[in-house]
Amino acid sequence: MKNQLILLVTLLTHLAFAHEGVELGPNGGRILEFSENETMHGEITVKGDQFHITLFDKDMKPIAVDKQSLSATTGDRSQPVKLAVMKGPNGFVLPIVKPGDWLILRFKDHQDAKAITARLEYNTATCEECQSAEWLCRCQPNSGGPKP
Ligand SMILES: [Zn+2]
Repeated sequence: MKNQLILLVTLLTHLAFAHEGVELGPNGGRILEFSENETMHGEITVKGDQFHITLFDKDMKPIAVDKQSLSATTGDRSQPVKLAVMKGPNGFVLPIVKPGDWLILRFKDHQDAKAITARLEYNTATCEECQSAEWLCRCQPNSGGPKP
């Protein structure tokens, strides 16, 4: 019984880390979940002083933006600052946030759909291990443990 419990905890821990690990998209940006069943993803990349968010379906094929909508905020939870989001043919464009600030996105597949919230800390510090910016770092969250 004790061994089974340990196995269960190990499995759950593994799942949690797998879910939290940063996933990178075809353009080297970070993949955000815009659905509850992996059918909609957003890849966020930086171009100049803007975030570009491209939409992908479950097979990571680009989706033409139609009825989807996105709102974005940054700053304190008590005093959120709304960001102006522009809609493009394959995604959205919004102003970049300050390094270290959080970007909170609320995605809707269509007008009556439930909003899906995705959060991102725009941490631009360089990870010593992979030399990527921290917000694009794929290293394991528990760096003390053995790497696969
Ligand atoms: Zn790293």
